[in-house]
Amino acid sequence: MKKLVETLWINGKRVETDNIAIISNPSNITEQVGEIMVGSEEHVNIAVGAAEVAWKQWAKVSPEERATLMEKAANYIEENVDELAHLLVLEHGKVFNECKFEVMAGANILRYYASLKHHLTEDKVIENYQGKMVLTRQPIGVVSVIVPWNGPIVLGFLMIAPSLLAGNAVVVKPPMYCPLTLVKILSNIAKIFPEGVINVVTGSGSKVGNSMVKHPRVRKVAFTGSTEVGRDIMRNAADTVKNVSMELGGNDAAIVLEDATLDKKLIDEMVQGVFTMCGQICYGIKRIYVPRDKYTEFIEKFTNRADKIIVGPGLHPESIMGPINNKDQYEKIKKLIDGINDDQVEIRTVGKMAQGVSLTDGYYVLPTIVVNVRNSAQIVQDEQFGPVIPIIPYDSLDEAIEFANNTEFGLGNSIWTSDEEKAFKIAKQLQSGSVFINIHRMGASAVNMPFGGFKQSGIGRGHGVEGLLEHTELQAIIKRSDM
Ligand code: NAP
Ligand code: MG
Repeated sequence: MKKLVETLWINGKRVETDNIAIISNPSNITEQVGEIMVGSEEHVNIAVGAAEVAWKQWAKVSPEERATLMEKAANYIEENVDELAHLLVLEHGKVFNECKFEVMAGANILRYYASLKHHLTEDKVIENYQGKMVLTRQPIGVVSVIVPWNGPIVLGFLMIAPSLLAGNAVVVKPPMYCPLTLVKILSNIAKIFPEGVINVVTGSGSKVGNSMVKHPRVRKVAFTGSTEVGRDIMRNAADTVKNVSMELGGNDAAIVLEDATLDKKLIDEMVQGVFTMCGQICYGIKRIYVPRDKYTEFIEKFTNRADKIIVGPGLHPESIMGPINNKDQYEKIKKLIDGINDDQVEIRTVGKMAQGVSLTDGYYVLPTIVVNVRNSAQIVQDEQFGPVIPIIPYDSLDEAIEFANNTEFGLGNSIWTSDEEKAFKIAKQLQSGSVFINIHRMGASAVNMPFGGFKQSGIGRGHGVEGLLEHTELQAIIKRSDM
């Protein structure tokens, strides 16, 4: 089979380098998936230069025409979805259905933002004693888009699509842990747009990412990733007063209410909310709070259901859950589990490996349920980002709300109940950008639902019209009435 080698893409051309990184398969670490050429700060300078020339022309192209090109890009993704999803499985580890869902989301996001074109042409007019004021939306210029490894296609396009529609040119940095599918898509769709509108510079966060943040001609940084790196980016963007959008980490709580019926549907939904994508979802369920008198029943039902999960390579017919994507994340999760040293705590390791697959073939972690754990434990307080779930009993609803809110994260939370009215009341007491009721899994956050974090989970909102406006500058034009 021909070796897969992806390159940088700058100003409408493939750009090759001597610096090559090998991408291996997290399901079978001895297997190489492909190679990626790695760029440098110099490539960032060239890409930003090209984007700076391109956006001035792109800004003059009508939103309708921009939308038409975005729809063509969506066609490319849809026409190649199976091949792209297959590649994503190999480099990411997620199971095929999860990868196909993610690749299709890339196309859906492009189409959704293309459909919002009228938001850029409908000026708001206000007339008063001073005269006439027109509020209009302008592009920002060159936007750096920095993408994490957990969902490179969906998260990449949630930043790229609104930026393109708004009339910006982008320089994209894919994650070094899972770059190939995103680079393949971007280098193919870049040809649909004028040269320099989409540029891709691969490389590490500390070199390429850092210079994409510091470059004086970059006007905005759109970032999705960890809170720690988000802080660093804000500091580095300060010197040139850049606009920043930050979609950061989360430690979402799921609160089961006293009135909830612990039936199959609820348990199925919650198990999916925890273990889909092997727990590597920013708004996955990361801690569960259950009323003390329902605790034993919940633990038994949840454990029995999670025990049905079969773990293995994403293309294995039996696999329901894949491995962790990379060694750093794998070691972090192992350390969190090994660090639990409270005698009261019971760690239940459930599920089984797919036939013919050994736990040590890749970065595999079996579903792990942490029972009788205190709320102050590190596994509860940290963002674990893996298939490990602490379940904590609570004594009163006020206590559960306090537990959920007592964190620097504020991305999402969920409420599990049969009482809709009560759920909406409690939702308004939770400090998070999203509150889900009786759902909290991949797809729960629709593309038209504004999404983002309170507190240290982010700045600004992605998805929806709000996500588009984040990629524009608001301009007020005023004309005096007496002249
Ligand atoms: P990460 O370590 O923060 O990395 C994200 C991206 O930033 C990568 O492309 C990385 O490059 C780059 N980067 C690292 N240091 C940088 C620097 N100093 N300057 C500029 N760029 C830099 O996050 P991750 O581990 O990939 O992703 C997992 C995290 O993302 C979790 O915390 C998760 O909750 C969060 N997340 C949030 C959302 C949301 O919507 N709120 C969505 C998904 C994920 P490398 O290629 O070198 O790693
Ligand atoms: Mg946690």
